[in-house]
Amino acid sequence: MSRYDSFSSDVLIVGAGLAGERAAVEAATQGLNVIILSLVPPRRSHSSAAQGGMQASLGNSAMGKGDNPDIHFADTVKGSDWGCDQDVARLFAKTAPIAVRQMAYWGIPWNRVEPGKRMYDGKEIEEDAEKQGLITARNFGGTAKWRTCYTADGTGHTLLYTMDSVVIKLGITVHDRTEVLSLIHDGTRCLGVVARCLRTGSLRVYTAKSTVIATGGYGRLYGASTNAIINEGSGMFVALETGLVPLGNMEAVQFHPTGIVPSWILITEGARGDGGYLLDKDLHRFMPDYEPNKKELASRDVVSRRIMQHIRKGYGVDSPYGPHVWLDIRHLGEKHINTNLREIANISRSFTGIDPVHDLIPVRPTQHYSMGGIRTNIDGMAYGLEGLFALGEASCWDMHGFNRLGGNSLAETIVAGMIVGDKIAKYTKEASLNVSTALVEEYVRVQEDRIQGLIHNRNGKENVYELRRKMEDILSENVGIFRSQEPLQTAVNELHVLHQRSQHVGLRSGGQGADPELASALRITGMIRLAYCIAAGALARTESRGSHYREDFPKRDDANWLKRTLAYWPVGAEQPRLQYEPVKITELPPGDRGYGEASASAATAKQ
Ligand SMILES: Cc1cc2nc3c(=O)[nH]c(=O)nc-3n(C[C@H](O)[C@H](O)[C@H](O)COP(=O)(O)OP(=O)(O)OC[C@H]3O[C@@H](n4cnc5c(N)ncnc54)[C@H](O)[C@@H]3O)c2cc1C
Repeated sequence: MSRYDSFSSDVLIVGAGLAGERAAVEAATQGLNVIILSLVPPRRSHSSAAQGGMQASLGNSAMGKGDNPDIHFADTVKGSDWGCDQDVARLFAKTAPIAVRQMAYWGIPWNRVEPGKRMYDGKEIEEDAEKQGLITARNFGGTAKWRTCYTADGTGHTLLYTMDSVVIKLGITVHDRTEVLSLIHDGTRCLGVVARCLRTGSLRVYTAKSTVIATGGYGRLYGASTNAIINEGSGMFVALETGLVPLGNMEAVQFHPTGIVPSWILITEGARGDGGYLLDKDLHRFMPDYEPNKKELASRDVVSRRIMQHIRKGYGVDSPYGPHVWLDIRHLGEKHINTNLREIANISRSFTGIDPVHDLIPVRPTQHYSMGGIRTNIDGMAYGLEGLFALGEASCWDMHGFNRLGGNSLAETIVAGMIVGDKIAKYTKEASLNVSTALVEEYVRVQEDRIQGLIHNRNGKENVYELRRKMEDILSENVGIFRSQEPLQTAVNELHVLHQRSQHVGLRSGGQGADPELASALRITGMIRLAYCIAAGALARTESRGSHYREDFPKRDDANWLKRTLAYWPVGAEQPRLQYEPVKITELPPGDRGYGEASASAATAKQ
């Protein structure tokens, strides 16, 4: 009997969130045989936790009038602090309206325009009677127009459930509770993966003409994150560990302004988009003092910094979980809260024991999104290995640069699923697959050795949970919203030691079957490598851009840093190797983002 089960397909998609499933639908529709792998049943992927909405320039609502892909493009580039690939942002903005309408066709119950007058932030808004019933949009941070299409505040839920229904309708094979442990490649071409069944613990081999990584973000490297507990970045580190595939801009980590205290579950930007305020300990609405134009709806990086700056000045509300500020949505009224914001109302009631109809919500900036990921070209092909693609949050495509706009990520997953999915299909139809059994055996043996080594404590008895906690603390304390040389150097030094210690993990448990300690032990070195790439990239980048804010280099420095970080991890190395590639400016030259803080500097651009 073979030591492992083998499966083969035209296309292998790792990840059953929105990105993976939309790409799978594209490839299957073009007649290809597709297998999707996932840690959890598809509908439990983090995409279903998305709340606020998806950006597309439909221009149906009164406050979105005149919107078009040019304005969406410009908002995305400015939001990225000129760190994004403008060709990708252009393609994205052009395709997003098609994606939203196609999702309506597949069954999304988008909120629609309801004619009539209503008050918003002290102003009267009147919706156009002629637009009645068309897909509407809400206000989101960093956008010139109201453009975020939504289904109440459960947009990710409706999108993923609908997409998964299409996957089921097409009869696409899904192997859930399956974890990819490594890629299989011959030095130039990716040939598939070695995976582990999380139910039985047995190993499996999947070979395919194209392998697609759509494994989402790595939020759980940080102790306080809005991300699902499965968001540990494993797709990114299996690519990194080939030594051939670089990760782009890993230092670009997004902190969302409003994680609820103390569970850090997200309170959507839609709460501020619909008119919510941020208040300090004196119940003073402080954002207009800092950002008189966009107030609570400046870009996410800006609002997060302003909150922390205000807390540092002593205006935070003390709590056993550290200081926080308040989010006030009481004035939106019970009906609005219990319909359009019902998810966050339930989260507040269930996890913090407060009712936002009557009470203030305690919030603090919390790790939320990874702009960095597997670096790909505009077709979604990973750098470094033929036959490997990446999309969604796991990728650095790169339409977000150094700050992703709220609502642009759900849109990215579906738009990239359409565009990259089509490129995958085209590539696969031309490709052939020849995999040597000896090569596959070698890759399986490496994983068997790792597992046996851990079970028998061959290399030592370091405690995986202790290492993990330490990694979370290092990142939270030194690589957060405000960064500077000394703490970043501390993080790099400590992660270096932690990386070495992670080679000596042993198990307390038996390691058989669905053993969570073994699963964590198999991931820990890869997670520390991602953390190391984040810290090393942040230390090297001596400027501030988007979410990467250096207190010792508070200005954006286009003369020296209009470039993307590429982090490699050569096989056997003890630290990442950083390289850079220029960020091409094809349409919109660097300028001022229009915020009060000294971030953008057209002045530096001119030097
Ligand atoms: C709370 C929250 C709210 C959000 N709200 C919004 C919003 O309103 N608007 C917006 O635009 N964006 C929002 N985002 C961001 C957005 O939801 C995500 O970026 C996006 O859904 C990611 O989709 P994905 O398909 O790339 O990955 P995910 O949905 O995270 O799916 C990843 C998949 O990969 C699988 N996987 C991972 N590792 C492995 C492995 N080793 N082997 C096999 N399978 C693996 C998982 O099982 C899962 O199926 C939100 C994010 C969060 C956390």
